[in-house]
Amino acid sequence: MNSNQCSFCGRKRNEVQMLISGQSGFICENCIEQAHVIVKDSVSKTGSSSPAENIDELKKPKEIKEFLNQYVIGQDQAKKQLSIAVYNHYKRLLHAKDENREVELEKSNIIMIGETGTGKTLLAKTIARELNVPFCIVDATILTEAGYVGEDVESILSRLLMVADYDVEKAERGIVFIDEIDKIARKSDNPSLTRDVSGEGVQQGLLKLLEGSIVNVPPQGGRKHPDQKYIQVNTQNILFIAGGAFDGIKEIIERRMNKQAIGFSSEKINKTDEEEYILTHINAIDLRTFGLIPELLGRFPIITYLDKLTKETMVRIMKEPKNSIINQFVELFKMDGANLVFTDGAIEKIVEETIEKGLGARGLRGTTEKVLEDYMFSIGEEKEIILTEDNIFVKK
Ligand code: ADP
Repeated sequence: MNSNQCSFCGRKRNEVQMLISGQSGFICENCIEQAHVIVKDSVSKTGSSSPAENIDELKKPKEIKEFLNQYVIGQDQAKKQLSIAVYNHYKRLLHAKDENREVELEKSNIIMIGETGTGKTLLAKTIARELNVPFCIVDATILTEAGYVGEDVESILSRLLMVADYDVEKAERGIVFIDEIDKIARKSDNPSLTRDVSGEGVQQGLLKLLEGSIVNVPPQGGRKHPDQKYIQVNTQNILFIAGGAFDGIKEIIERRMNKQAIGFSSEKINKTDEEEYILTHINAIDLRTFGLIPELLGRFPIITYLDKLTKETMVRIMKEPKNSIINQFVELFKMDGANLVFTDGAIEKIVEETIEKGLGARGLRGTTEKVLEDYMFSIGEEKEIILTEDNIFVKK
């Protein structure tokens, strides 16, 4: 071998900045960079993000749920339904490739109902991570009917395209999470004569995406523009997961259930006192009463709910997920050689303080940050910091 030139491009030692030696050759920095680009490209094309070719490559619902368990605490019912829906969705994609198929499998988009900070977004995000498909979150409240101030529904797909690096094929297998779907409910149960541009109009607009059609998407999002170039995206295989708090839905379910009960029994359903129990009975009729139009509900055949977070669940959220808040801060302190310890009492105090704020688990991080503020400011001064229920909210 010639130790004076790159074995790949043949450039001489004096023509390059460095030559790295291998067992039987040399490589220059230019060739390393080029090779890196090739590797990156081929990984993104053929790597784990490539669609499954046969059913054995798909993770079964139980495996998907196990993956979710590592990140999302509790919410078993939602996890189970989501795992089944996602499995069926990707099975459907396989089925669609079969040219001899006689039965057409329909898509199962999902609506998740649950108070803020109970893990709806986290569930959708984690599923997308597990499947390694493009994922985006859109807030339904920014959408308006075409022609009005706000964003057209097509902008949802602009975001998906963006996260898929404008790889249309990849985007067409992605997952879209539509947050705050309850905020575009029709204001009253009766279709009114006045136009409802931010409610029913948007629901009508969304139908087009949910139905599975080819949609012209403005690549940069925002409003459609007559002389803008569009990218055509087929939404047939995009999975839509919608989430919302649906304030007042319990009363709607309760009313329906009591009405039904009166028909054949004078005894009222007394279990309806239990909040969580009521939610287990949610169905499309209730969401329709809430103000979602039947056509839209028809496109969301799976309705699931998330439980309110109890103090115990919040404590588990602090401790158990793979990247739990506690693990994150312990790691942060470890980098400065400090040993940070949260006692159970301290964790409970943080949880109690957070519950008072009413932000769900979302508030846990903020409370913890506040508790650790002074310690982080004077980091490096103490080798061991033990947080207990007594010293936690006492400022030094
Ligand atoms: P929302 O239901 O409003 O979409 P999110 O999923 O955004 O709530 O939750 C906010 C944050 O709270 C998450 O990023 C996560 O850190 C935490 N969280 C909420 N619920 C859970 C849960 N069940 N398990 C683990 N973490 C959770």
